[in-house]
Amino acid sequence: MSLTIIKNATCTFCGCVCDDIEVHAEGNKIVETKAACSLGKSWFMNHNAEKIYPEALIDGKEASIEDAIEAAADYLYKAHMPLVYGLSNVTCEAQREAVSLAEKIGAVIDSHTSL
Ligand code: SF4
Repeated sequence: MSLTIIKNATCTFCGCVCDDIEVHAEGNKIVETKAACSLGKSWFMNHNAEKIYPEALIDGKEASIEDAIEAAADYLYKAHMPLVYGLSNVTCEAQREAVSLAEKIGAVIDSHTSL
């Protein structure tokens, strides 16, 4: 199988958004990274485009997107101190929507990097 080398790939795992990562791929599988930290290397090596999870979960059970949105809205509506947390592995557009939601509901925002 031939090796494809992609230079200056961007890692979006944490907020640093390093854009100098070298990625080596054989077919659709990433087999090596250079210049990524251990988190970034793990992100590149272990994530793929396969659909392995349901579209949504409610209390750990598979649910439709519509039902999940309704449940999330209900949780947020009832929350006394809402927290918008995470935001890694998502696009800038999704982060923008999350910040907008947080402003509307008076939430605190935190990313997983606080761990
Ligand atoms: S996880 Fe590591 S490589 Fe990826 S953006 Fe953050 S610091 Fe950079």
